[in-house]
Amino acid sequence: MGTPLDTREAQAEEVIDRLYEEYPDSTISLNFSNRLELLIAVMLSAQCTDERVNQETAHLFEKYETVEDYAEADEDELSEELGSITYHNSKADYIKSSARTIIDEYDGEVPDTMEGLTDLKGVGRKTANVVLQHGYDIVEGVVVDTHVQRISRRLGITEDERPEDIEQDLMGIVAEEHWQQYTHLFISHGRATCTARNPDCGDCVLEDLCPSSKLDHDVDLASGESWD
Ligand code: SF4
Repeated sequence: MGTPLDTREAQAEEVIDRLYEEYPDSTISLNFSNRLELLIAVMLSAQCTDERVNQETAHLFEKYETVEDYAEADEDELSEELGSITYHNSKADYIKSSARTIIDEYDGEVPDTMEGLTDLKGVGRKTANVVLQHGYDIVEGVVVDTHVQRISRRLGITEDERPEDIEQDLMGIVAEEHWQQYTHLFISHGRATCTARNPDCGDCVLEDLCPSSKLDHDVDLASGESWD
């Protein structure tokens, strides 16, 4: 019986508690060994799966090691290295251009502020948040990817639609200590159970709290449409 708790704050807290139990080791799934690699991996992951990014960065990070390597790279060659990654031509341009900015404006170090990171070509607030959290242990917001967006709406935690609005909304109702883990927990749940097309509500630890549960609700609150 999917019935949410009385307030969105209480609903979010209970959901987070249960997902911590379910996915105790949930964390970022991109591979990297320094901040530059982190930045590049996150830039590459836009509209692309982490799995595919990891496949390509395995050889990319062997060939390009320093920020100068990227800044001085031949853009077509870099794009070819990115192989199967979505929008690899644009991403090669963003990476080369960002590397140049990092050298010229930031002494060759990946910036450690939201302002500095979003100053880089192709880097938005979402990418910057991930780099700050995992590169510098600075948590300034909630990373809202497609899983966070979909499942937060399904569970009635937010009614906002745009990622930027959802982030602001979540920052008002989720305790700050959970901002970073919120994302990883929701991604884990989105991959394992609450998938976009065919969520497994019958095997979901949140079913009794979920106003979108297919077991007793007709509408998917993420899309506002009826379940097929
Ligand atoms: S799997 Fe079903 S019950 Fe669980 S959160 Fe997703 S929509 Fe709700």
